[in-house]
Amino acid sequence: MATQLLQLKYPEIRNYLGGSFVDAHLPLLDVYDPSLGSVISRVPLSGAEEVDAAVGHAAKALPAWSHTPIKERVQVFYRYKTLLERHIDELAALVTEENGKIASEARAEVLKSAELTEFACSLPQIASGEVLEVSRGVECRIERFPVGIVASIAPFNFPNMVPNWSIPNAIALGNCMILKPSELVPLSAGRIAELLKEAGLPDGVFQVVHGGRDVVEAICDHPKIAAVSFVGSTKVAKIVYRRATSSLKRCLALGGAKNHLIVMPDADPEMTSSNVVASMSGCAGQRCMAASVMMAVAKTDHIIERMVDHAKRMTLGHDLGPVISAESKARITRYINEAEAAGAKVLVDGRNARVAGREDGFYVGPTIIDHVTPDMAIAKEEVFGPVLVIIRAKDVDDALRVENASPYGNAASVFTESGGVARRVMENASAGMVGVNVGVPVPREPFSFGGWNESRFGVGDITGRGSIEFWTQSKKMTTKWNREAGTNWMS
Ligand code: NAD
Repeated sequence: MATQLLQLKYPEIRNYLGGSFVDAHLPLLDVYDPSLGSVISRVPLSGAEEVDAAVGHAAKALPAWSHTPIKERVQVFYRYKTLLERHIDELAALVTEENGKIASEARAEVLKSAELTEFACSLPQIASGEVLEVSRGVECRIERFPVGIVASIAPFNFPNMVPNWSIPNAIALGNCMILKPSELVPLSAGRIAELLKEAGLPDGVFQVVHGGRDVVEAICDHPKIAAVSFVGSTKVAKIVYRRATSSLKRCLALGGAKNHLIVMPDADPEMTSSNVVASMSGCAGQRCMAASVMMAVAKTDHIIERMVDHAKRMTLGHDLGPVISAESKARITRYINEAEAAGAKVLVDGRNARVAGREDGFYVGPTIIDHVTPDMAIAKEEVFGPVLVIIRAKDVDDALRVENASPYGNAASVFTESGGVARRVMENASAGMVGVNVGVPVPREPFSFGGWNESRFGVGDITGRGSIEFWTQSKKMTTKWNREAGTNWMS
């Protein structure tokens, strides 16, 4: 339900169709600044009609864009990357305002968008086809063609970066895109649209349709949308994957996570403790790559003590931003309360956290809970807040058993000085992205991002080389121009 306040910091958000922001008379939802707990804008809740209009614009733009040579298409992204860098202060401030993350995290997010765009600029070099003379005078070649009109559905936790996981690659590869940002963080998408236009992207190649579930369902059902990428919770990833594929689209749906960090007794105490705390608390724990469960193997109390020290030294509001909403804060607090009631020991308590002057902000302080058992909800379910639970394990295999039992499979890490132990975890962790002495093992371009198990539905990865297959379809062509070539079974 939208607030009746007249003076909002940002005017009502509008959909972006055919290269312009358009007015529409749609129901509105309040958009909050989570650090203040106050309303800053309102976002329209679009439906099937708006999705259809977006598809109409994309369909008009598609023939010319898909036939533009890729080396020309990427020129837009060279300029877009420069614009992202030039406007980093403003873009990062927008991310901080709508999502709450602190300034350095927001800047890192925009820099990551620039890196993703840089990768797209290399696509002419790495997405080229193949050709081979397969028998005398007969050539087989493979060329990549765009899929057509595609859609990208984003979550709230990276308002700038996650849309840029798909925009540069999908569009550079010749597709026209409809972006559905999270209705909780709709501001960044409008600036992305403006910068793409300034970079020279033709009107209609990129659309933004705001809203929630209705837009997502309309995207999944629309007969002219050929591919859907989704990033969000596992619950919704399953809904989207089933619905999009049942209407015969290709779909890559990335879901939630429960990431395990295995800490061995030989791990470097300072590096490990600071990395683990940074991993669990960065972006207020609202990262699908955040440390969530620490498997403390054997004698690791000296490392845990340092972690507690690091966490206690963090200043809320300065080192750590708020979580996204009052509902999130209540959910996270409930998990901590339940774990404590079940016998876990809260070493660092972020409940009832307050920031002076921002008393209505949705803050949760860093929280470390020891002696959690694998059967507790907080050990199994995604908490999505700055909360780390510690489960004690007797050896690395014991730790791996707990990690392997998780239905998720985004990231896992091991902290150790032993190459043998590291290799054991690299081979046996049931996760798509594994780190050794790295708290947030996000692969950087050209390596691809993607989890396993219930952290990803569909084939392939969403970024880097792994995304090329998803955003293109290959055509296999066999040609014979040499009349002297003999006649054989291929003739
Ligand atoms: P979410 O699943 O609630 O929402 C994601 C998108 O789906 C939003 O655009 C939302 O409008 C839409 N949506 C919500 N409910 C829907 C429904 N019932 N039907 C159709 N569409 C619906 O996720 P969120 O809370 O915005 O983001 C946090 C989640 O995203 C966490 O679970 C996190 O782990 C996950 N995430 C995963 C990755 C990854 O790479 N695996 C990356 C970032 C975030």
